[in-house]
This record gives sequence, structure tokens and C-alpha cells, in this order.
Amino acid sequence: ATMSVASILAETAHRMPDNVALIFGEQQIRYGELWEQTRRYAGALRARGLGEGDPVALLLPNVPDFPRAYYAVLALGGIVVPVHALLKAEEIDYVLRDSGAKLLICAAPLLGEGAKGAALAGLETVSVLVPDELTSSLPFARLEDEAAAAQPIDAYVPRDPFDTATILYTSGTTGKPKGAEGCHFSLVEQVNTLAADALDVTADDRILGCLPLFHTFGQTCVMNLGFRVGATIVLVPKFDGATALALLNANACTVMTGVPTMYIALLEAAKSNPERPPLRYGMSGGAAIPVAVIERMKEVYGIDVHEGYGLTETSPVASFNHRGVPTRVGTVGTPIWGVDVEIADAEIDDRIQLMPRGELGEIVVRGHNLMKGYLNLPAANAEAVVDGWFRTGDLGTKSADDYITIVDRKKDMIVRNGYNVYPREVEEVLSTHPSVAMCAVFGVADDAHGQEIMAVVTLMPEATAEGEDLVAFVREHVAAYKFPRRVEILEALPLGPSGKVLKRELVARFEAAPV
Ligand code: ATP
Repeated sequence: ATMSVASILAETAHRMPDNVALIFGEQQIRYGELWEQTRRYAGALRARGLGEGDPVALLLPNVPDFPRAYYAVLALGGIVVPVHALLKAEEIDYVLRDSGAKLLICAAPLLGEGAKGAALAGLETVSVLVPDELTSSLPFARLEDEAAAAQPIDAYVPRDPFDTATILYTSGTTGKPKGAEGCHFSLVEQVNTLAADALDVTADDRILGCLPLFHTFGQTCVMNLGFRVGATIVLVPKFDGATALALLNANACTVMTGVPTMYIALLEAAKSNPERPPLRYGMSGGAAIPVAVIERMKEVYGIDVHEGYGLTETSPVASFNHRGVPTRVGTVGTPIWGVDVEIADAEIDDRIQLMPRGELGEIVVRGHNLMKGYLNLPAANAEAVVDGWFRTGDLGTKSADDYITIVDRKKDMIVRNGYNVYPREVEEVLSTHPSVAMCAVFGVADDAHGQEIMAVVTLMPEATAEGEDLVAFVREHVAAYKFPRRVEILEALPLGPSGKVLKRELVARFEAAPV
């Protein structure tokens, strides 16, 4: 058998060439045009000698060049290595070397770090033109120019289903990022499964493309899924709540896909903008969405937000609150079709001992969505995949009727005076306070208790609560060993490139500066 992720765009372009694939500012790009542009980009890359099995790195925000370059590399039979847009030169160098990338395609505004990183790795950079950016004066070859001169490829190169299609780097808590290799089969099967029964996204939908496409969530659940069904994606290069709401309205978006912080920002934006978009539903993942946020999205935007769960290593979706069945708020739904999600004894390292239903343990995943492995890291692979099961590092339970509940990440669990405290549970309580917009609970090293529980919050517009009020509030709702002893009010929480709160940064910051 042969297969290619490029078929996702190629076949939709063939069947529905006139559907609008992308909206970017004033630009509208139809599927037929996008595939034609992609074949030209592929022609330009081929003219540079690139082809089957060659890794090509992309350092691009959510602009039309992302999908063009992504599918062009895949259409040639190459391997896409997306680079997080916030990385610094040394980190970019690491990703380029580790993946064996042969070329970096970099957006003009990201050339500062990108070109430095490429130079360190001894690579050539091709810049792409992002609207309003004049790159002609820059000393880089321009993919746009090369594409204009190139002979477009006729068709995508079929690959073996298990050939690597993408290498996605996860941040990892310690050491260097790990490159998770995804094959054509997993990536295609994932969107087919999501489209067939988890979500009812269709060619009539307009999806807000605010998740970064260089991250697995945006790449699979926005771009590949949207293109698979012929939907329109409204590209958002830089997320903020007010802009996102304006774009949802202006483009009459029907589907919203985001991480919880994006929903929280949309709720804040709704306070100063009374217009509501014609959304049908939302999809949340990447981190726990507080129940209070799901409830307010229903009140304010009138939609159900369906929560799912997964990781870069699982394509990413492993479980989902499927459309068509009532969402079970507080759970991440049931395993997607063809995928096993189970709970294993978290204390046993060398084998998988599955736990009875209802018991707490480490979530393990097996099925078509698993990565091939971490590139160049046999020891990490042996640790992560045991008896065919991928250990997620997350703690959770599975109900008698297959619903998965995430308790927390194993590594985020706080142990205070020997008691286990799950930050997520405390965050749920803090989120119900009317003054709290965003919050994060974490443990800081403490001589007296081993770890002490601390929280940071941002406040709703015009709210005036003090840290002590919030400590007292949580204290009323949880057992004495669980409430945060200190709550700090911040202007903003540190967010990673995909919009998740960076707890490691908070821990480092407050351990360095205790009260
Ligand atoms: P790392 O820093 O380890 O690389 P990451 O956030 O960059 O983490 P991802 O693959 O993006 O890596 O995220 C996977 C993790 O996100 C999961 O292991 C889980 O902890 C968390 N996660 C995803 N969905 C949910 C959810 N619905 N509820 C709670 N946590 C979730």
C-alpha cells in the first residue's frame, strides 16, 4: 500500500476546487489555487535537489505559506519538521541538527533567530514572503520567487504508510526536546477517524485557525481535519481575545478549536463586544478546561465546548467528547475509534499492569495514532513505550462506561507533608471565583513541608480581589491540606507557543523569589 498526508489537500482540491480553503486578512484562497501553489512550491524544492525522505524545517506562523510549504514537502515525499515560532537560535540549531533538516523555510519576521539558528546548523535558509514584509532586500533566497520560476510537480509522491511524515518536537521537562516521528498512516488515520465519527465538521464550516499550525493540535485538528473535509480555515497569526472575537464575527465562523486559555480570553473579550458569532460548537484540548469556563461558554456564546485529550506522541487525539452524544463535562470523553486508552499502575515501570475501572493510575494509549518513536532516542523510547502501550505521564481514571478523567500530570502533582495534591482540582475551585480570569496552581520547594502549594491568577476586567481573599475562598471549599497558602495576582500568566500556561516557569520564578 502507498499513502501520503499530501492526499488530504490534493484530493479535496480535486473534488472541491472552488471551496475556500483559507481566509487570511483580505485574502481568500480556494482549494484549487492552494494545491496549485503547493505544487509550485514543491517544484521549487525539487529544483533545489530535495526529495523523498528529506527533512525540511518550517519556521512559520499561521500564514498561507504554512500549508503551502507543509504540503509541498510532503508532496515531494519529504519530512516536515515544524519549529516552534518562539524558539531562540540555539534551540532552532538543535532541532535542525537533530532532525537532519536539509533546509529551513522561514517567515521574514522570524528571520532574526531563524537565520542565526540555520547558520549555526550550517544550513541554507529560504525566506518566504509574509504580506507587508519586504524581503527582497534581505540576503536570502525567496521561496516565492523560486516557485514562480519552477515547474510545478504533477502529483504527490506516494509513500509507504509507515514512512515518517513529520517530526514534532515536544518541550519536555528536562534535557533537550524530543522529536516525535509521525508516519503518514497515523496522521491520515487520525483525521479520517475524527471526521468520520468524533466531529461533524463539514465543507460548510468555517473554523477559526488560532492554534499554531506548528503544534500538533493546530496541525491535525485545524489544518489537516479542516482540509480533509473541505472546510474554510480563518488564519490567525497572533492570538488575542478581542481580535479572535472580531474574526469569528467578521467571518461568521461556525467552529472554534482552541486551548482553554483561548476560551477564557474569548469570555473576557465578550464583555466589551456584544456581537456573537454563529458558532455551532467548540473543541478544547491541550490542557484541562475548567468546568466554569465550559459553563460560561454556554451562557455567553451558546455553545457546547467538547473537551478532548492527547499528546504530540498520539497524533494528538486519544479521547474526545464526541459530537452527537451529550458531552460529559469534567471528562475528556471516550477513546476515539480504533484506539485503546487504559489506566496502568503508575508505580510499575518495566511493564504495563492495567488497573480496574475507576482506579487512579497512569494513562496509557495504544493504537493507530501512536508515533513511530522519538528520533535518535532509543532509551527514551524504551521508557515511553512498554508492551506496545505509550505511557503518557498523565494520571487519570476510566469509568465503567469508558469515559476518561484526567487528574493531573504525574510531574505536576504536589506532595505537601506527604499528602498528594492535584493542582487541577484546586484550579477548578479557583476558577469558580467571579474575579478570577486565569489561574495556575503549582508546588514550590519548601523546607518545612517538602513542597508548598501556591497559586497565581489574573483577574477579570475591573475585579479587585486580593490574594488573601482567594486563599480564604479556596480554603472554604477544599480540605485543609489542599488549599494554596499563597495566591499572587499577576497581569498575565506565562503562556507557551500553543497557549498553555508554563508551570515550569512559574515554579522557577517563585522558587527563586520566595516571600
Ligand atoms: P511537554 O512540556 O511535556 O512537552 P507539552 O504541553 O508541550 O508538554 P503536548 O504534547 O503539547 O506537550 O501536550 C500533551 C499534554 O497536555 C498531555 O500529556 C496532558 O498533560 C496535557 N493535556 C492535553 N489535553 C488535556 C486535557 N483535556 N486535560 C488535561 N490535560 C491535557
